[in-house]
Amino acid sequence: MKSNRKIETVCVQGGYTPGNGEPRQVPIIQSTTFKYNTSEDMGKLFDLEASGYFYSRLQNPTCDTVAAKICEMEGGAAAMLTSSGQAANFFATFNIATCGDHIISSTSIYGGTYNLFAVTMKKMGIEFTFIDPDCTEEELNAAFRPNTKAVFGETVANPALTVLDIEKFAKAAHAHGVPLIIDNTFATPVNCRPFEFGADIVTHSTTKYMDGHGSAVGGCIVDSGNFDWMAHADKFPGLCTPDDSYHGITYATKFGKGAYITKATAQLMRDFGCTQSPQSAYYLNLGLESLHVRMERHCLNALKVAEYLEKNEKIAWVNYPGLPGNKYYDLAAKYMPNGTCGVVSFGVKGGRAAAEKFMKALRLIAIETHVADARSCCLHPASATHRQMNDEELIAAGVPGDLVRLSCGIEHYADLIADIEAALNTL
Ligand SMILES: *Cc1c(COP(=O)(O)O)cnc(C)c1O
Repeated sequence: MKSNRKIETVCVQGGYTPGNGEPRQVPIIQSTTFKYNTSEDMGKLFDLEASGYFYSRLQNPTCDTVAAKICEMEGGAAAMLTSSGQAANFFATFNIATCGDHIISSTSIYGGTYNLFAVTMKKMGIEFTFIDPDCTEEELNAAFRPNTKAVFGETVANPALTVLDIEKFAKAAHAHGVPLIIDNTFATPVNCRPFEFGADIVTHSTTKYMDGHGSAVGGCIVDSGNFDWMAHADKFPGLCTPDDSYHGITYATKFGKGAYITKATAQLMRDFGCTQSPQSAYYLNLGLESLHVRMERHCLNALKVAEYLEKNEKIAWVNYPGLPGNKYYDLAAKYMPNGTCGVVSFGVKGGRAAAEKFMKALRLIAIETHVADARSCCLHPASATHRQMNDEELIAAGVPGDLVRLSCGIEHYADLIADIEAALNTL
């Protein structure tokens, strides 16, 4: 799926090229099942001897078309859609780690992913070590164990906005014979293509910028095809030894660069069924067609808002990796020279009460738990997602009481700044 087309062109035209007289837009194949002339024909599909569709819990043509577009955007070898970003990160890790295994993850990740790893997957017998993304190479190398199967991090973390040094993490992962998995949700492939820096597998919550319109929850996994599973066959028996539930197929030898995604589809989709609906995939594709245009505006608006906030005396602090002076400015410039994302966080002087009053006074910017939407929205974690915590606990969790997370949409930044200014003036 590697191509020389520019990302803008892939956003619009990737994944689907209609033939003569065929629909211009990706057709929604709203069918759970597919018809065959003989049982032998269908049997070959079940044996993975031929490729084709038989039941939409495993694969659907609309979903595959949209996955192929995201695959080309990331410069990957194979991809699959999932029902959500949560399902994508679960499948991406569980596809290569099992009970008794260990995974290293950055501490600075989405709260839902942290819960998946630290609570739910732990119950399944998979242990996680969480490591500061700013750790030294020595600290990172020291976290590996003989049963470590993967390393995980986010390009730009939600909500902390830390930027991961992808090359540092890739180098350590490869030195220990395991792949690096990157959740690229906030940067999107428009702003960062982690495979170019050594990442092996990329995941997305397509619910965010890719859909971009708050229409459909979804996820995606892309495999670069670069990780040599057979070279580390002892670590990855699921890919490198025969699968009894598929007539003794060995994924890594039979499917080459498609092995990881084929295994995730054949085993995990079959057994867990976290399928994206064809209708949702269609909405996702509409979002992808304008992703390159929207990301530019999200980043411009976020930078303008961050610059405004930095100068306002009612603001205690501003965190945006695209802002000169930010701790991650240099890493952001290296990995995302065209911009990071549209999310800015800041503190309102006067703490929790002032932040709450400020948000109540906003008119254009809506209060939502969502981020990465065409419409600007904001959240006060201390009174919403983290409301059970006291002030000390909030600080320990990296979300002080004064923190407002603002997701800049694609409106005109002057109107966003006017809304913020009017709300600050009520304080
Ligand atoms: C939202 C999000 C997820 C979870 O995705 P859902 O589509 O909500 O399941 C995972 N990772 C990141 C970085 C996210 O922002």
